[in-house]
Amino acid sequence: MKLICIGRNYTDHIKELANDRPSDPVIFMKPDTSILLKKQPFFIPDFSSEIHHEVEVLVKINKIGKHIQEKFAHKYYDEIGLGIDFTARDLQQQLKEKGLPWEKAKSFDGAAVIGNFFKKNTFTNLKDLTFRLEKNGEIVQQASTALMLWKIDALIEYVSKYFTLKIGDVIFTGTPAGVGKVSPNDILKGFLEEEQAFSIKVK
Ligand code: ZN
Repeated sequence: MKLICIGRNYTDHIKELANDRPSDPVIFMKPDTSILLKKQPFFIPDFSSEIHHEVEVLVKINKIGKHIQEKFAHKYYDEIGLGIDFTARDLQQQLKEKGLPWEKAKSFDGAAVIGNFFKKNTFTNLKDLTFRLEKNGEIVQQASTALMLWKIDALIEYVSKYFTLKIGDVIFTGTPAGVGKVSPNDILKGFLEEEQAFSIKVK
């Protein structure tokens, strides 16, 4: 399976990193080895001194598809989840400045937290789904899918132009504002509406 990640999908986050607003979604991948194993802590890697949390809504693909039209995209998923796209911001900044790919900063072991998934009909409106990340009990990121530049179905259409989507693939739909550094002993908890999707300890 593959993890397809979307960058720069919320205006407020584009502003906080002083990035340009893209004309198309920014896409990168994480390998399956980047998935943080369930119930394991996240260990800060020694090659970075600035690991940021990016909380993101996840979409799990349940049907193989290519060139999926937006109007049919809803047939390709029935579960929605929440995760973290851990990012070595210091490394990413160096790579961006040189125009190099981001994999070292985004795709290292443990960089993908995949929390619990919920049947999509658990939620009344996927186009206005609220979610939040709490760090040590304080809300650090909070948003709604209504703020996405490209909504879930539009992302599926766009991504499937380039990559065949397979059963079990997961799309990370981008992070809203509020990204920030994590430190040893932090506890990160993610909520989709009021459903807790994960609780991670940082080491
Ligand atoms: Zn991200």
